[in-house]
Amino acid sequence: MLTPDYYEDCADDIIELYAQLDEAIIADITRRIIKTGTITETAKWQIKQAQEMGLLYDDIISEIGRRTDATDAHVRALFEDAGVRTVQYDAGIYRQAGLVPVDIRQSPAMMQVLNAGYKKTLGNMKNLTLTTANTSQNAYISACNNAYMKITSGAFSYQEAIRQAIQTAAQQGSTVLYPSGHIDRLDVAVRRAVLTGVGQTCKEIGETNAIEMGCDLMEISAHSGARPSHAEWQGQLVSLSGRKGYLNKDDIGYGTGAGFGGYNCQHDWYPYFEGISTRNYNDRMLKQMNAKCIEYNSKMYSEYEISQIQRRMEREIRSAKREKVAYQTAVSESSGELKNVMQEALTYSNSLVRDKQAKMRDFINQTGQQRQYFREQNYGRVAYSSVSRSDEKVGKFFNNAKNKLTGNNYLNIIDKFSKNISNIENNTVRSLLQRTIKNVEFEKSQRQHSYFSGKENKVYLLNNIPPSTVAHELFHKIDKDNGITKGKMLDESIKKDYENLLKSAQKTGLSIEDMLYSKYPKAFEKKGRLKEEYRGVSDIINGMTNGKVKLGYGHKNDYWENTYKLSKETFAQYGRFMYDNNPDVMKMINEIFPETTSSVSNILKAVELFGE
Ligand SMILES: [Zn+2]
Repeated sequence: MLTPDYYEDCADDIIELYAQLDEAIIADITRRIIKTGTITETAKWQIKQAQEMGLLYDDIISEIGRRTDATDAHVRALFEDAGVRTVQYDAGIYRQAGLVPVDIRQSPAMMQVLNAGYKKTLGNMKNLTLTTANTSQNAYISACNNAYMKITSGAFSYQEAIRQAIQTAAQQGSTVLYPSGHIDRLDVAVRRAVLTGVGQTCKEIGETNAIEMGCDLMEISAHSGARPSHAEWQGQLVSLSGRKGYLNKDDIGYGTGAGFGGYNCQHDWYPYFEGISTRNYNDRMLKQMNAKCIEYNSKMYSEYEISQIQRRMEREIRSAKREKVAYQTAVSESSGELKNVMQEALTYSNSLVRDKQAKMRDFINQTGQQRQYFREQNYGRVAYSSVSRSDEKVGKFFNNAKNKLTGNNYLNIIDKFSKNISNIENNTVRSLLQRTIKNVEFEKSQRQHSYFSGKENKVYLLNNIPPSTVAHELFHKIDKDNGITKGKMLDESIKKDYENLLKSAQKTGLSIEDMLYSKYPKAFEKKGRLKEEYRGVSDIINGMTNGKVKLGYGHKNDYWENTYKLSKETFAQYGRFMYDNNPDVMKMINEIFPETTSSVSNILKAVELFGE
């Protein structure tokens, strides 16, 4: 099962990609309004308009085409993540019921549901997106006609009429046309398509899994602010086979647009075993879900209302950004008095974007803490059974709970780390870490971070760190003991890798961040932030670019001014990479830091044979 929060945010990344398409379309329309707008003769105006209309269509189709690979990759990554999570989450419940759950990759039936759902969603999104070429033509024509009328009627100056036309086109943004004739904003349509597609697919995966595991009852998750028709059955039990005494699939409208798993539904279900599971909700809790208990600007709101306010603010920011892009384009495409008017509009628009962003930050500050409280609820609680607990990963919620129980103390982490050393495949790394850990002392860090002190020959660790941090700190010791970075043994390869990274970014016309994001979507938690297992990559790139490129993990800008820091941190990050030995991460560093990767491996071999 996927949590309501997962559904709430899962489309955000993809919407962000489409926002770029949206902006490109707005810029295109703006450029053509300006071109057409500077013609004053009616006949010529009409000819120009028809010409530009055709070119606009072609441009949008190729804009969409240019983005296809990146979008497909993101949608693919999202579906895989959602599918794996669904099965992992439910596995925790199956295991505690004494069953042996399967991985999604081992179940052809579940994989088939996943692939079919992904393909269907992608197809829907493509068809919808292509309609923007038509709707944009219409937006362009109506903006031009409107401006022309305003000018010829003498009600507005020519510059003001053009400015208004641009503003209207930008505010509207690009729209899509549904087969029913219904028109929606592109971002709204994308969100609906993604959320509904993921939801339907994962609910079916959960159901397929339950049938394979012989589980007939499913408990439905509950969230605040569910629409009234869904509030009726949320938190209740459903019998997949339709047994009496429980809700059945028809009761919850499963398979219909308005029911469970229909449009924008954020509910999900997970296995429930009579006599083993305990109900997650009681009537009182379900009633309380709509309580207004989050304060914002001295007024109280429900969790749902707060999320609606946030969605509205996000839409407002996107709309203000589109206006900004439109005026930016207009300034560069115009001259004389028209340029002045556009420049003025741009200045105002800039301040509008900043205001709206500040408002959003304030909103997050005011409500963030309170919302967190809501999001910590557990789904699918299982009464403690005689079945022994497994140590395997069973989803975020169970893990969090477990961390609280065992307390992820730094001593436990060292213990875990030491046990894992023997599993390291790379002989050199394994023997180096085994050797190094014996010759160092550990202590709890009183600072904000973990670190190695060469003077004291001590590793200071925080609680709650991943075990790979221990490898990172031990690599600092290996470095120090053998004078690796002091001898500038890595400088040349880091420099080469950085130059190549820059070159390949320039070739694609993207910034380093955007290039990596489009090439490795699965590595990112969201735009601008790599997943935890890639924190080493983030740190190295942060250092290579002198603190400029931030991908979620790094140091303060002035940190990198010290010459040795970059090579020192890079070397230590390889400790993390090699300890984790995550194939996806290894593949990425092989591709983006080929020189450094091979140097580090040569250096380590030398250290193993001749080093301290
Ligand atoms: Zn729902």
